Amino acid sequence: MVGNKAKLFVFSGPSGSGKTTIVRDILKQYTEFLFSVSATTRKRRNVEKDGVDYFFISEEDFRKKIDDGEFVEWEKFYDYYYGTLKKIVDDNISKGLITVFEVDVKGAISIKKVYPFATLIFIAPPSIEELKERLIKRNTESDEDFKKRIERAEMELGFKDQFDYVVNNINLDQAKKVAREIIEKEINKEDK
Ligand code: 5GP
Repeated sequence: MVGNKAKLFVFSGPSGSGKTTIVRDILKQYTEFLFSVSATTRKRRNVEKDGVDYFFISEEDFRKKIDDGEFVEWEKFYDYYYGTLKKIVDDNISKGLITVFEVDVKGAISIKKVYPFATLIFIAPPSIEELKERLIKRNTESDEDFKKRIERAEMELGFKDQFDYVVNNINLDQAKKVAREIIEKEINKEDK
C-alpha cells in the first residue's frame, strides 16, 4: 500500500534502454502516481501527446522559463532543450503525492540535489550493441540523431554508480518486475 508521504521516483538511462516502457508499466500499475511532464523543444513524435508525454514548446518559450526560474533542472542535448517544471513537482510534494520522472542521467542527479529524498533508478541496456539494435528497430531517429544517442549512451552508462538502484534490462518482463519491487520497497519504508 502507498503511504501518504511524498516520494519522487526518478528513472533514467540511455535512450533505447527500455526506460519509457518501464515507466509506463509503473504508471499503469500505480494509478495514483503522477508523471512529471517535462517541457521540451524537440518535435512531437506521432505517438506522443502534448501535455501528456511532454509540453512541446518553442525555444523562445523555453528560454523564458529558464530566465524565470521555472525549472528544477534543464539540459540541452541533440540540439533540443528538456526541462523539469518546478511547480508540478512542488505541488505534488505539498499534497503528499508520488511523482515519477523520466529524465537523462544529469537531470536525475540534479533532481536529487534539489530533493535529496528522491530515489534514482537507472535502467541499463544489456550492451551498446543491443542498444543500437533497439534504436534501429524503433526507427524514430535520423542517422545523425542515432549516432548522437549512441555516443550519449556511452557517456550515460558512466553515471550509473551514482544511482540508488540499477535495473539491468536484459529481459523486459524481468526488468519491469524488478522496478516494481524497488517501488514497493521504497513506498513501504517508514522514513527516507
Ligand atoms: P526523448 O527525446 O527520447 O523523449 O528524450 C531524450 C532524453 O531526454 C531522454 O534521456 C529523456 O529521459 C530525457 N529527458 C526527458 N525529459 C527531461 C527533462 O525534463 N530533463 C532532463 N534532464 N532530461 C529529460
